[in-house]
Amino acid sequence: MLEVKNICKVYKTKDGKDVRALDDVSLKFPKKGLVFILGKSGSGKSTLLNMLGGLDKLDSGEIIIKGKSSKDFKQADFDSYRNTYLGFIFQEYNILNEFSVGANIGLALKLQGKKATKEAINDILSQVDMLEYAQRKPNQLSGGQKQRVAIARALVKDPEIILADEPTGALDSKTGIQVFDTLKELSKNKLVIVVSHDREFAESYGDRVIELKDGKVISDIEKYISPSSKKSEAISIVDNKIIQIEKGYELTQEDVLMINEYLKQNNAILCVDEKSNRDLKKFARIDDFGNKECFKDTDENSIVFDEDSKFKLIKSRLPFKESFKIGVSSLKNKPIRLIISIILSLVAFTLFGLADTVNSYNKYDATVKSLLDSNVSNISFSKERVFDDWSTDILLSDSDINTISSKLNMDFQGVYTPKNERYIHFGMNLYSQPEWESLYYSSFKGFIEIDNDFLSSNGYNLVGQLPASNEEIV
Ligand code: ADP
Ligand code: MG
Repeated sequence: MLEVKNICKVYKTKDGKDVRALDDVSLKFPKKGLVFILGKSGSGKSTLLNMLGGLDKLDSGEIIIKGKSSKDFKQADFDSYRNTYLGFIFQEYNILNEFSVGANIGLALKLQGKKATKEAINDILSQVDMLEYAQRKPNQLSGGQKQRVAIARALVKDPEIILADEPTGALDSKTGIQVFDTLKELSKNKLVIVVSHDREFAESYGDRVIELKDGKVISDIEKYISPSSKKSEAISIVDNKIIQIEKGYELTQEDVLMINEYLKQNNAILCVDEKSNRDLKKFARIDDFGNKECFKDTDENSIVFDEDSKFKLIKSRLPFKESFKIGVSSLKNKPIRLIISIILSLVAFTLFGLADTVNSYNKYDATVKSLLDSNVSNISFSKERVFDDWSTDILLSDSDINTISSKLNMDFQGVYTPKNERYIHFGMNLYSQPEWESLYYSSFKGFIEIDNDFLSSNGYNLVGQLPASNEEIV
């Protein structure tokens, strides 16, 4: 029901170079099953998936959806295709953190114009084995569980096709397994196309594995089960490659001849303990009955279309309460917009307030007053020079300190900072000098010069002695 013919996509980079993201790709997909698109980063996997999902324009070639070619598609047809037939799953979970798991599903149901009943929500959640988490907020879930909520959300419109771009890219392999188990289960009656760079997952879960390199399909294989054949009561041969022999059996003359025949042509490993047996079976994907999963080149001719189904258009709609909530939450996710809103509000409020405040307000008086009000007994000063959007400490001179002391009628001590560190702070701001990292350990800000008089006037007793020479510290 989904087919691409000779599709090409060339991207232009900023410096004007052409990148062939897809180079004459033709593929035909079956109605159901788990298909992996495998390849290294940059091989064109996401581009292909986006094309299949109608998310990006083709340069040439065509997509055929349910017998209809993209050449005959209008934009509304693409929208309808995405809305009606496709569920997308991305590496980032795309679920709303402000809503509980159940509410996320409920909202998705409403968006589809369906009733968000408890039964409907539970039905969807049980399809991804997440029923017991309905009340939880997404931040109380593991990454794998969040991704399964995202899958559940995609299932709300009961899509015929699920497209997933590196759905486990942000997960460790253990939680990745839960996600693939779920996708595998769904692929029993849907087409699930998964982009991945993990060959092991692709081969163990995939019914078919399509490999891309530089925008071209370099291999396309499908899985089949090779049944074990019994050679005798106690010997079976798997995929013509592996000989399984039961415990306690003694090889006959004929068996020995057979094995010798093998050995003339091939190297062999005799695997005798239970663990090695298990490991080997797992690795070679042999089940308890000796059946082995094998791959052969995909035969697309065996994929047949059923012509009976036609496009149905389902429009998206969103109730006001939820749109408001999503609006607010997207503000949070779009900090620039938030900042601009805040700045605009500030400007407005400032203009209102400015007229009557500007003459009566003195920030120095206000600062001193609030310090006195809160009974502050110690204050430290520093001097900064502020440039456009950064500032740097500069030195306080002795006369600065005298001025402060006399104005406030308080005793102030200068704090010394090593010259190097000052330079480094400066250099960091200006040039991001690489050396600064190695000096980062000098995290103390400065030191103060004291003598015995200072100690005793502040109520301290000196135990031991003050430094007597340059390389001593106290
Ligand atoms: P994959 O998903 O396999 O990592 P992609 O399909 O994302 O690869 O990208 C395939 C190639 O196309 C890469 O070389 C990538 O840099 C390039 N590409 C993808 N999208 C764009 C874009 N919007 N602009 C320019 N180049 C792009
Ligand atoms: Mg990608």
